[in-house]
Amino acid sequence: MKITDIFEKQVKTFSFEFFPPKTYTATIELGINIGQLMKLDPSFVSVTYGAGGSTQSASFDLVDYIQNKIGWTTMAHYTCVGASRSKIEADMDLLYEKNIRNLMLLRGDPPKGETNFVHNPEGFNNGSDLVAHISQQKRFCIGAGAYPEGHVESPDLATDLHFVKKKVEAGADFLVTQMFFDNAFYFQYVNQLRQMGVNCRIIPGLIPITNFGQIKRFAELSAAKIPEATIERLAPYQKDEKKMYQIGVDLAIQQCEDLLRNGAPGIHFYTLNKSTATVDIFESLPKTLKDIYTVTYH
Ligand SMILES: Cc1cc2nc3c(=O)[nH]c(=O)nc-3n(C[C@H](O)[C@H](O)[C@H](O)COP(=O)(O)OP(=O)(O)OC[C@H]3O[C@@H](n4cnc5c(N)ncnc54)[C@H](O)[C@@H]3O)c2cc1C
Repeated sequence: MKITDIFEKQVKTFSFEFFPPKTYTATIELGINIGQLMKLDPSFVSVTYGAGGSTQSASFDLVDYIQNKIGWTTMAHYTCVGASRSKIEADMDLLYEKNIRNLMLLRGDPPKGETNFVHNPEGFNNGSDLVAHISQQKRFCIGAGAYPEGHVESPDLATDLHFVKKKVEAGADFLVTQMFFDNAFYFQYVNQLRQMGVNCRIIPGLIPITNFGQIKRFAELSAAKIPEATIERLAPYQKDEKKMYQIGVDLAIQQCEDLLRNGAPGIHFYTLNKSTATVDIFESLPKTLKDIYTVTYH
């Protein structure tokens, strides 16, 4: 099923993101965590595509497993990294044969240690060109990335907004945001895109801070600012895993409640292949906010 068909029925969607596990143990853990998350009945799930295309076959295998063995609607992430047009065609055919109808199309990041993105000479240089190419086929529902605090490489937010709009004009059906910790960035960003005539769903991506060091690193890489008040609340508990987890989950619950009460069209959870925090957050949200059939979004 296409995610746009799910949008027809659900005013809000709750989705989970996974990455392909790298070890045998991690694979078993992911299986257990997917089992835990099944009870939450997600609207759809997504599987990342490794930096540099490194985990492509593992990514496609996981996509295939979740879509066809578990039966969840699955969105395959796909990037321009190392991809020529002929490789893209072959990969799209492969995914289509595996019943995949939803893609998250991205430029991808430069390889580790490099600062500039160098595209395949026979491929594409940015997300919108990849979206334009694949949307012509009209076979897939297409999601694209959005950056409420601006993409790290953008000179300013206005430039970034211009290129995000271009992705939607090129055929992206909806946007999923990079993580952020201050909802003001999200609401401002959505308002700006609405004023520019972008009307698709802009689903906020959420990552709970349950491991301060790890999330701080992610935030630095993506230019997402962690509010001072959040740092002050979490910093004293860096060696107290239990307390850190509880505060991180409480903060994420507050963040979700505020997003949903103020019109966000659902939440995309960056699960980091774990289930506990997502289950705790989702189960703590008031029932009315989780009702996927009512409430209008902006
Ligand atoms: C929801 C989500 C999921 C992700 N999943 C993955 C994943 O699975 N695998 C992975 O490797 N990475 C993933 N990423 C990270 C993503 O690949 C990086 O953030 C990447 O740097 C940007 O990709 P993009 O398609 O969003 O960017 P683009 O839209 O291509 O933009 C990248 C930069 O180029 C600029 N730009 C865009 N178009 C043009 C143009 N025509 N001319 C000049 N400049 C332009 C933009 O302003 C921006 O600074 C994900 C990001 C998000 C938000």
